[in-house]
Amino acid sequence: MNSLWNDADIVAISKGDDLAYRVYSSRLLGKDKSLVLHGGGNTSIKVVEKNRFGVEEEILYVKGSGWDLETIEAEGFSPVRLDHLQRLARLPLLSDPEMVNELVTHMTRATAPAPSVEAILHAVIPHKYVDHTHADAVVTITNSPGGEEKIRRIYGDEVILIPYVMPGFDLARLCAERLDAELTSRTIGMVLLNHGIFSFGESAKESYERMIYLVGKAKAYLQSQAAWDITSDLAEPARDTGLLLAGLRNQITAAAGFPVIMQRHTNPETTAFVSRRDLKPIAQQGPATPDHVIRTKRLPMIGRDVDAYVAAYKRYFSENEPLAKERKAMLDPAPRVVLDAQLGMCTAGRSAREAGIVADIYRHTMRVIQRAEKLGGYRALPAKDIFDVEYWDLEQAKLKKTGKLPRFSGEIALVTGAVSGIGKACVDALLANGTAVVGVDINPAIETLYARPDYLGLEGDVTSEAVLKVVMTKTADAFGGLDMLVLNAGVFPAGCRISELSLEEWSRVMALNLDAGLVLMREAHPFLKLAPKGGRVVVIGSKNVPAPGPGAAPYSASKAALNQLARVAALEWGEDGIRINSVHPNAVFDTSAWTEEVLTARAAHYGLSVDEYKRNNILKTEVTSRDVAELVIQMCGPAFAKTTGAQVPVDGGNDRVI
Ligand SMILES: [Zn+2]
Repeated sequence: MNSLWNDADIVAISKGDDLAYRVYSSRLLGKDKSLVLHGGGNTSIKVVEKNRFGVEEEILYVKGSGWDLETIEAEGFSPVRLDHLQRLARLPLLSDPEMVNELVTHMTRATAPAPSVEAILHAVIPHKYVDHTHADAVVTITNSPGGEEKIRRIYGDEVILIPYVMPGFDLARLCAERLDAELTSRTIGMVLLNHGIFSFGESAKESYERMIYLVGKAKAYLQSQAAWDITSDLAEPARDTGLLLAGLRNQITAAAGFPVIMQRHTNPETTAFVSRRDLKPIAQQGPATPDHVIRTKRLPMIGRDVDAYVAAYKRYFSENEPLAKERKAMLDPAPRVVLDAQLGMCTAGRSAREAGIVADIYRHTMRVIQRAEKLGGYRALPAKDIFDVEYWDLEQAKLKKTGKLPRFSGEIALVTGAVSGIGKACVDALLANGTAVVGVDINPAIETLYARPDYLGLEGDVTSEAVLKVVMTKTADAFGGLDMLVLNAGVFPAGCRISELSLEEWSRVMALNLDAGLVLMREAHPFLKLAPKGGRVVVIGSKNVPAPGPGAAPYSASKAALNQLARVAALEWGEDGIRINSVHPNAVFDTSAWTEEVLTARAAHYGLSVDEYKRNNILKTEVTSRDVAELVIQMCGPAFAKTTGAQVPVDGGNDRVI
């Protein structure tokens, strides 16, 4: 373990700005995923401040709920009156709602986030800086047989050892008692069995570097026991599993009660883990630290029997719920982690971001399990303790912060010709509505169009059948299936009259505007059939379908044929719950085809100004890519839930179409 502390980084921090140091070293902890993951861990600092009357008060600045250590800012720390917290720790009892009320009503800034549920614990530690992580190396040791003894041998009197108690008031009270009894000048931290580790010190650097030192000792111990390195032989992940994944997503969605995104992970580490012969016993123990349960559930699903997983979850609920202090309503029983010999590790969430968080956590869990196995066996907390954290209102509150879910949350769309114009506008509108989007384009810029977990850009020529098969496989691997398909890729060739038209040019346009649409529809069909809310296809047609123009034979004919293909698909696919509708845009000028120069020339040709030319329709309105994308979104949503085989113009009104 190396300290990432760098004095050069902090030249900008003015001396005495203790909170700025707190922010700096909190971020150092957050950066190291083997210490904390996704909102895990917390830090604090105790400072003296003058109140409104000029009276000095000791204030605990503790990580606010909803903030992540890696990206925390000064305003992410909640200021709470320290003496009040310390007095609370001496109470014999304090319920969760009472504790939350005490924390929130003793803050000195009304707009601060709710203080961490571990605020009272931070308050009872008599050092200025306190750091808390769920370090992999430490939980590996405490989650193995004789973990407590091993910890004692590793640290001696450097740390105080705290048995497992659920986070919150009871844990803070126990820590206060142990600190009173055991704290010496040699104590630099606390190990919380099956949970994590605290370090503390008088400066940010001292506390941070003590964390690194303590976790480094745990790592060195694991190395000395030959329990650090994990070998992963290169098992080949199975290929062509797209439909298997989509089928599994369909079942998991049914169990969850909402559409889920599913990511497949097949790196050597996960592949080796899922192919272990002892996978079942070692992966059926529980999470490495209790608060992972709200992301991963207590257990992963091994294999693909969703019904059996759901039944086992319901059993776990009915066995543990009666032991809880108050009555609980069952959360959805769907798995979040799937470990399957063929699929590798798959993770599920309401969004690609959530599925990614689950994967990050489980990757660390796999390491903890495998190292603990080398120490004599991985031993997680009993199901009852995990249940208490999973169903703890204060943990569930963390997940509810996301607010109302967007319209297409958990759903997946594929858009062709997505790098610019109408295609890109569709990508943007779909992303804005919570969809995970795969954009395909022949332009390699598609791959870097967006860097976000819910976007995948694939460079490829849609006229190649092989490319489209790969696109479907990659879509399934990235997000778990397909719900919406937007057929947009197309070409609008330069004008050419039939008397001059070569068969080659005709075929070129047909290949892209028509044949590619057919192949993609065919390849997407079995996936769309498995879409939990019903598959949707939107064809970007053209005004030229109902109202062709001279000199545009291949374009008009290809778009008309594509439209007819869509109508046949509407007839054939209705029984599969798939809707397919067309939009017919006209005169959409904010696309790459229409440069300022071309626009000026076309406008002049009709004796119009550019502005008049753009609004040359019945409603005298300009039609943009975004207008087309908005109609596409509507066609995928509830407004068109009862409509298939329809064609809707988006052209400002055209007298030839009307
Ligand atoms: Zn913790």
